[in-house]
Amino acid sequence: MTTTNGHSAAEQASVENVIIITSAAEQASVENVIIIGSGPAGFTAGLYAARADLSPLLITGNDYGGQVSITYDIENYPGFPESLSGPELVEKFKMQAEKFGTRVEFDYVKEIVVDQHPFIVRTENGAEYRTRTIIVCTGARPRYLNVPGEKEFTGKGVSYCATCDGFFFRGKDVLVVGGGDSAAEEALFLTRYASRVRILHRRDKLRASKILQDRVFANEKIEVLWNTVVTEIMGENGAVSGVKTQNTLTGEEGFLTTDGVFIFVGHLPNNELFPGKLELDEDGHLITDRKYRTNVPGVFAAGEIQDKVFKQVATSVGQGCGAAMSATRFLEELEAGHAIDWRADPREFASPRVAVLA
Ligand code: NAP
Repeated sequence: MTTTNGHSAAEQASVENVIIITSAAEQASVENVIIIGSGPAGFTAGLYAARADLSPLLITGNDYGGQVSITYDIENYPGFPESLSGPELVEKFKMQAEKFGTRVEFDYVKEIVVDQHPFIVRTENGAEYRTRTIIVCTGARPRYLNVPGEKEFTGKGVSYCATCDGFFFRGKDVLVVGGGDSAAEEALFLTRYASRVRILHRRDKLRASKILQDRVFANEKIEVLWNTVVTEIMGENGAVSGVKTQNTLTGEEGFLTTDGVFIFVGHLPNNELFPGKLELDEDGHLITDRKYRTNVPGVFAAGEIQDKVFKQVATSVGQGCGAAMSATRFLEELEAGHAIDWRADPREFASPRVAVLA
């Protein structure tokens, strides 16, 4: 039997098969959504993308669970009036995202290629994925003080995580550097173990929320040293023994003997993958609009990589949800065959009208 184009039916079937198989295989080899990061934003993006039937792939990064996983007690995430630990919350996030089909890979993304579509995501374990959308949820990490001795004594008395290391300071004297929520919260946590906790703050007013300030001031183990910065961390026999200080008003120098220095002076966005590829602000956060779109169509971002204002578990969760919903809409447009202008910045404030208003 011969078909209308002159090929035998067998030939035609085999040609069609090859085409169909190739096309199907190609389709199957392209991910709908890759989520980079496993904090509250990442898992929420996974949950929403999975429930949209997109079978998202979530690549955890090296710090599984993000910063919440090193938080001892979470009191301000709604729905858990009794509070719960960071690791417990991360497990719940993961279970819920997986329940609907999120695939979780314990790997680290080392490169993204976003000047072609499908995008490419390469990982430390040697995997190379092609994907129609990316949701960046890489979060942030603690900022260093950058004083002499800090690097040398990290893990030997210098710490950025009271939950992780507080236990080792039972009955000891510790310093906490910083005046924000983290410093206050971690100082309070350290009073479980340490005999004395002194907070060194560079100003005369804490930045921390009122409720945490009240707890700090009411705690007999905590003393706040105002207008004081650490200029050097000193040690003996491979362990911290004290810090050199300076008064920010008078310039007067001093020395404090201590067993540990806990540093909470803010965070830096984990943005190493993005310079030259996605637009960053002067502090290194990805610049997104209210729909969590970056300047590249099909690439979205949520959580602390793009939020320098709120940085709460609750806000990161909301942002992860929004980014997944935007990615879902974007995929619907692709599916419907709508033309995507790959060269145009899709963010709303990039439009001339908003630019003029700004
Ligand atoms: P943060 O709010 O940025 O506070 C950083 C603190 O470190 C500030 O007090 C700052 O002083 C001080 N600082 C910065 N650089 C310094 C330096 N080189 N030397 C000495 N001190 C320095 O950071 P965070 O406390 O990590 O909090 C980050 C975000 O997470 C915030 O939005 C916070 O509300 C949120 N958070 C919330 C909770 C909670 O809700 N329970 C817990 C933790 C964190 P100045 O005050 O003078 O700027």
